[in-house]
Amino acid sequence: MLSEFQLITRYFTRPLLKTDDIVLGIGDDCALLKILSGMQLAISTDMLVEGKHFFKNINPAILGRQSLAVNLSDLAAMGAQPVAFMLALALPTANKKWLTLFSKSLLKLADEYNCKLIGGDTTKGPLTINITIFGTVPHGQALRRDVAKVGDDIWVSGTIGDARLALAIYRKEIHIKKTHNNILQINLPIIPRIKLGIALRGIAHAAIDISDGLAGDLIHILESSNVGALLYVDSLPISSILRQQSLIIRRNFTLSGGDDYELCFTSPVKQRKKVIAAAMHSATTITRVGIIEATPGLRLIDTNDKLLNIDITTFDHFKTEK
Ligand code: ADP
Ligand code: MG
Repeated sequence: MLSEFQLITRYFTRPLLKTDDIVLGIGDDCALLKILSGMQLAISTDMLVEGKHFFKNINPAILGRQSLAVNLSDLAAMGAQPVAFMLALALPTANKKWLTLFSKSLLKLADEYNCKLIGGDTTKGPLTINITIFGTVPHGQALRRDVAKVGDDIWVSGTIGDARLALAIYRKEIHIKKTHNNILQINLPIIPRIKLGIALRGIAHAAIDISDGLAGDLIHILESSNVGALLYVDSLPISSILRQQSLIIRRNFTLSGGDDYELCFTSPVKQRKKVIAAAMHSATTITRVGIIEATPGLRLIDTNDKLLNIDITTFDHFKTEK
């Protein structure tokens, strides 16, 4: 049996190359971070519980990556640069194979974003993963939800609706041609849009990462900013596989599917060139999907500019409680 300390040392502790921001990592009662002058600390936490946020028996390598990716995505949505994270783990057993796969993929993604594991907590219990992440952003430059302005363009990165499509196929809610079964194999790894978020500092107004479906997440921006919006529902960016689905499924999965982890952001029309340059600089595709208006509420329009009468709250018939 592994002791708690052996487990931490073997799977989660690595030599910490000293950086400007990290004074002390794993091993003491607290980690120590230095906040450089002119910077603000962006902090976020996410808890993933087996059976609620991921399936029992999920591949631990996928779980390790996703656990950190959802947190990195929150930093991306604020335009923050990742610095470090804490990992609180409840494990039913100390399974060596599981821990190896989980920690390897987690730390691999951490390396990709130069985000160091600086501490955590480990306890026995139903499988639960709680990561708290720290990033930095220059004073006043964070991309907040409450600063969308009337007249702003609304943009979305990447494509949306694929995670919901994969789930629908898995649950056999819909059937697709055999040749497209690969959507299940690729497991849709989240690509945290850190580079895009940072490139949008000083250009974009509001931003959010799409975790619960575009419509609901955009409404968070609208309500915090006291504005409304028009959304071009049938121009939302989708993959070629989702494009082959019916109109109702396309609308459903893009608007309220969830787990996309793309960025939705607003920016002034006069910044369009800079927005496109930021997207190119970060090698991320972006699509203009709507406009911020003064009248509160979210209005959905089709390709003929016809207002659609869709109730977002009850739109996803398949959606289960999260
Ligand atoms: P304490 O009892 O003082 O809270 P712990 O015994 O819980 O300390 O942890 C010892 C050290 O190991 C601390 O620096 C803590 O941050 C770190 N740690 C514990 N669990 C993890 C984990 N899952 N991942 C990374 N670091 C961890
Ligand atoms: Mg502890």
